[in-house]
Amino acid sequence: VSPLLDLRHIEKSFRVRGKQLFAVRDVSLSIRKGESLGLVGESGSGKSTVGRCAIGLTAPDSGSVRLFGEELVGRSRRELRQMWQHMQMVFQDAGAALHPRMTVGRNVIDPLVARRLVDGREGREIARQLLEQVGLNPDQAEAYPFELSGGQQQRVMIARALAVEPQLLICDEPVSALDVSVQAQMMELFVKLKQKRNLSYLFISHNLPSVGQIADHIAVMYLGEIVEVGSAHQMFRAPYHPYSQALFASVLPIPANVDARRELRALPGEIPSPFDLPSGCPFHTRCPVAVGRCRDVRPPLRPVGDGHQVACHLA
Ligand code: SF4
Ligand code: MG
Repeated sequence: VSPLLDLRHIEKSFRVRGKQLFAVRDVSLSIRKGESLGLVGESGSGKSTVGRCAIGLTAPDSGSVRLFGEELVGRSRRELRQMWQHMQMVFQDAGAALHPRMTVGRNVIDPLVARRLVDGREGREIARQLLEQVGLNPDQAEAYPFELSGGQQQRVMIARALAVEPQLLICDEPVSALDVSVQAQMMELFVKLKQKRNLSYLFISHNLPSVGQIADHIAVMYLGEIVEVGSAHQMFRAPYHPYSQALFASVLPIPANVDARRELRALPGEIPSPFDLPSGCPFHTRCPVAVGRCRDVRPPLRPVGDGHQVACHLA
């Protein structure tokens, strides 16, 4: 069976003020039906670009994106729109993504109206049902986006994404802009939708506790590369890659397999510029356990156990 979503060898760079910015480097990942993948890493690590490539909003320079085995790269907008009935994207800034002069209800059913799948009356009923499913009052269908709080706007975005009954939601920092108390409620909604609708997620976030609530697997990105991928359980318990260890140590007690003498909680140094990538292992400029060859030889992502992969010479 082909996976729901399958990215192979995605490369993407941008030209910024005459310089080449390497945003995504040889990223492969896949999500099976009903499974969810968390994509984590510091801001600027390329997570959002991977999400945008996955849904076809950004064309990769090379590589392949398949949805149920069908290639997305190179498709026209019209063909992509067909494929978007299977996957939808939820962005961080719901306020900006909603149409300010449309009612909330109309915003929700807009994807259906645009494809002439519903008429006005039917659409109103669907909008009310969807609003209820995301925890809003159905009567809020008549309101305008500016009348809602940030958390409510995010719920409207989710209702809108659900309107086409997708199997996959790509969420890019969906709770980061919200108050902490609202974040918890939103995460509850995501988990509920996962269970009730058997929804899959590509859940992009730098918030590890949130990712831990929804993800079955977690991929860690650093400077445009995936440096480790494994089950959420394993990643929280004992990640292998020194960067993952530092990242996860910031939210949890030091994992059992980390030598207490080299505590990694405070990750030294800054993330290097994506304009000027380090040679060898991208993490060598900050890695507390780097060895000689780390500076020259880039470690490939290789299997270290059941579905677990790590890009580190020492793994
Ligand atoms: Fe550190 Fe070397 Fe492993 Fe890179 S390859 S993470 S520099 S030990
Ligand atoms: Mg981002």
